Amino acid sequence: MTLPGSLDEAVAALAAMPAAVPVAGGTDLMAAVNSGLLRPAGLVGLGRISEIRGWQYQDGHALLGAGLTHARMGRPDFAALIPALAAAARAAGPPQIRNAGTLGGNIASAAPTGDALPVLAALEASLVIAGPGGGRREIPVGHLLAGYEMLGPGELIGYVRVPLLHAPQTFLKATGRTGPGRASASVAVVLDPARRGVRCAVGAVAPMPLRPLDAERWVASLIDWDGERTLAPEACAAFGEYVAAACIPDPAPAPDGGEPGTLPPAALHLRRTVATLARRALGRALA
Ligand SMILES: Cc1cc2nc3c(=O)[nH]c(=O)nc-3n(C[C@H](O)[C@H](O)[C@H](O)COP(=O)(O)OP(=O)(O)OC[C@H]3O[C@@H](n4cnc5c(N)ncnc54)[C@H](O)[C@@H]3O)c2cc1C
Repeated sequence: MTLPGSLDEAVAALAAMPAAVPVAGGTDLMAAVNSGLLRPAGLVGLGRISEIRGWQYQDGHALLGAGLTHARMGRPDFAALIPALAAAARAAGPPQIRNAGTLGGNIASAAPTGDALPVLAALEASLVIAGPGGGRREIPVGHLLAGYEMLGPGELIGYVRVPLLHAPQTFLKATGRTGPGRASASVAVVLDPARRGVRCAVGAVAPMPLRPLDAERWVASLIDWDGERTLAPEACAAFGEYVAAACIPDPAPAPDGGEPGTLPPAALHLRRTVATLARRALGRALA
């Protein structure tokens, strides 16, 4: 295994060994190797690259290193900065996983159950990708998760750019269906007072986080942004139902104009879970 000391050295090592794969905490990658799903010809370890293990401030944003571990993001100083990402980090697996697993690995794995992903989607974060020859390009995180854009050969996620909103934000998850600790559904809610917006993303119910944009606009229009920023419990509950129906819609009517089908019980249960999470997440953000 090669252990470069900088992002550019890591990119160069990948260029020199095109069949090698990068490894950060190894919590996803080594599970794939151990189960025989992956036989990498070589490994480029990212664990010694100190420049991506912290964060810095830049123009109202935080530039988070891809090598930040879940354990580091869960600490109070980080939670004061980006509360929803800290909550997601604290919810990500058992302590051994949180100590080793990284933000960059969570994004690159792009598992539907990745806890950081709905938070980054709600924050409209972007990724700074490091490429050969010291090149850097920036893409919205949603583009990578949706597959509109991919990491090219030898490219690495270097940093994640997150706006600092200085307003409440929450992340909640329900576990069970997908294995111990993994989300069966998760919801991130972020208030953006400067844009008078509420942004929400739902994780684990689809291959990538879903943004219920109509529900976001509707609930933002109910909030008195110059006043107390509270909502009645009924409005939070209606938001939860709106979000859940957008993410897990009723089956379309039959093409012959017949009766629309009904959701199977498991989907109905998931929809109720999403509605509850979204109601609570909004309620806590506005509390
Ligand atoms: C028992 C267990 C429980 C878990 N529970 C949770 C959970 O509750 N929530 C959750 O979200 N996740 C969970 N995970 C998944 C995993 O821990 C996280 O996704 C973690 O963040 C992965 O980070 P890593 O550094 O270990 O990635 P690695 O395993 O090192 O890498 C994962 C993938 O990302 C690539 N990669 C890594 N870093 C970069 C980079 N900077 N640029 C480009 N590609 C990169 C690697 O090549 C590899 O393909 C769990 C895993 C296990 C084994």
